Amino acid sequence: MKTIYLDHNATTPMDKRVLDFIYPYLTDEFYNPSSIHLPGQQVREEIEKSRKKILELLEGENYNLYFTSGGTEADNFAIQGAAYGNQKKGRHIICSSIEHHAVIDTCKALEKDGFEVTYLSTGSDGVVNLDDLKQSIRKDTILVTVMHANNETGVIQPVEEIARFCREKGIIFHTDAVQTAGKIPLSLKKIGADLVVISSHKFYGPKAAGALLVRKGTRIFPLFHGGSQEKNLRPGTENTPGIIGMARALEIAVSEMETEGIRQKELRDRLEEGILNLIPDVQVNGSREKRVPGTLNVSIKYVEGEALLMYLSDEGIAASSGSACSSSSLEPSHVLLSMGIAHEIAHGSIRFSLGKMNGEEDVEAVLKILPEVVKKLRRFSPFGKDKEEFGENVYAHTH
Ligand SMILES: *Cc1c(COP(=O)(O)O)cnc(C)c1O
Repeated sequence: MKTIYLDHNATTPMDKRVLDFIYPYLTDEFYNPSSIHLPGQQVREEIEKSRKKILELLEGENYNLYFTSGGTEADNFAIQGAAYGNQKKGRHIICSSIEHHAVIDTCKALEKDGFEVTYLSTGSDGVVNLDDLKQSIRKDTILVTVMHANNETGVIQPVEEIARFCREKGIIFHTDAVQTAGKIPLSLKKIGADLVVISSHKFYGPKAAGALLVRKGTRIFPLFHGGSQEKNLRPGTENTPGIIGMARALEIAVSEMETEGIRQKELRDRLEEGILNLIPDVQVNGSREKRVPGTLNVSIKYVEGEALLMYLSDEGIAASSGSACSSSSLEPSHVLLSMGIAHEIAHGSIRFSLGKMNGEEDVEAVLKILPEVVKKLRRFSPFGKDKEEFGENVYAHTH
């Protein structure tokens, strides 16, 4: 059975052009870029070209780029690095409660080490409120972290305003841009955040490659020790194919961004409209205006997201209940809860995230299968409207 893949916010397949581009560096051009010999120095040159290319694509003249093993490491590096590097000024951090686990769990770890963290919930539209943020600032606040777009809802955050405010206050601002890089324009110059994180496998590059972009003058400590690579801030032999592949993938994504964005938005909107028309008691989660093009998060009342995903999977449709982490636990999404969405509604959430291989036929397939699956599940739902028909609850529901 062919898989209809609608989980691109979790990961994307590598673009074949990227694979072709990195093939030599996986084979013949295997040399260590730290070596003095000529082939090693040629690899070094390619890495530096990639660094330059990414900085150009993101308009980051005023930034240093440090390659990492992905988004999670880069978020850890940014937050721990800024926290430990600036703790003499204060130990208070502000973090939005819709952040990816790579950010939230890092903040939680810092709390165990004596840092204080204020978690900001959002409005029902999934957008962080600037006034709430301003009111949470203290004299000892050293770091604010708010993502560029949320991975579960696709909702875009007012990062430019936050960056401007933090700059005035002399507070470091970190933004996780993993869900926007290669999807919507991402200009470091325009946003003005001090720390920005991207991840290659979210834009058709190789997995386990990412970067932390640091505005020049931002004080940050390394997480690791062991070598002088990446200006002593991120030691370890470079992931040459990952780095070169990430730069090539970003280049392709940026060049196709406009047409692909329009195309995916149309598909997403059609999917959304179809679901709202065909299935009663459905809500779209998060702002429908301030969203990246390919993401749709809906709650289907009286069903459980996990059950829905399994039934869809049986029909060849790969979607998600939101974050990859909550997909394997039965807790509803922390993002939806933080938006003030009730537990039972958050439980019935499902995220479709489209990518460049998807076409109309995929949307049509979902619109054919999903209503049938929902009907089937609702007949067994303990909250279901058909409850009377069945008399007793079919199975005991635990929360
Ligand atoms: C996927 C993702 C990450 C983690 O990136 P990895 O490269 O998979 O470690 C971090 N933040 C967001 C918003 C993500 O979507």
